[in-house]
Amino acid sequence: MLKVWIDAGHGGKDPGAVANGIQEKDIALKVSLGIKERLEETYEDVQVLLSRSTDVFLELRDRTAKANAAGADVLVSIHCNAGGGKGGFESFRYTSASQNSIKLQETLHKAIMSKLGGIDRGQKSKNLHMVRESRMPAVLTENLFVDVVADADCLKQASVIKTIIEGHVLGIAAYLGLTSKLMEVQPVKPRDINIVSKWAETAWRDMSERGYFDGQRPGSPITREEVAVLLSRIL
Ligand SMILES: [Zn+2]
Repeated sequence: MLKVWIDAGHGGKDPGAVANGIQEKDIALKVSLGIKERLEETYEDVQVLLSRSTDVFLELRDRTAKANAAGADVLVSIHCNAGGGKGGFESFRYTSASQNSIKLQETLHKAIMSKLGGIDRGQKSKNLHMVRESRMPAVLTENLFVDVVADADCLKQASVIKTIIEGHVLGIAAYLGLTSKLMEVQPVKPRDINIVSKWAETAWRDMSERGYFDGQRPGSPITREEVAVLLSRIL
């Protein structure tokens, strides 16, 4: 069982960036809860642990201490950006990041950009607590700008939040090499419309003999005009 640590930035008395009717802490929590739900329902043998699952304040050192103690395999810290500019997405690793952190950032960043589109501000490195103090591969994502009106409008849309969640899920799954639960489901064989279903055999033969149906294609859908012809035959 692989452990993914998702860290929703800010919380409680610390709202993070606030602008255009958006608080960064709320977006970070929504995205984090979504990642846990989607990752666990879609993939085998993965558990998602959260720094917070409600609107509470946590010190940075407590977040990394908990993730390290849990022995998480990767850590992703979820944030939104502020500070103007044209908006867009960027990600951060530690300035002296491990090869695995670099690989995680590369995989995650590409997956999110492929889903989200828009401005790519790049894969960056910075001396940030969350990526410095985490013992496992760690990346911090800055998901659009709350103080850029176009980005804020995006963050207000459920479909965009879903896209951000999907990007993170795909990236984490690709990095960890997770197996999709869906791959184990056998594809359903399409039915042959020329073969009548067992339960309808008698009625189909009977009604065809009486001339209501022509005895052809018993499994085919019926149109409104075919129903009209059928009704006129009956009447
Ligand atoms: Zn933040």
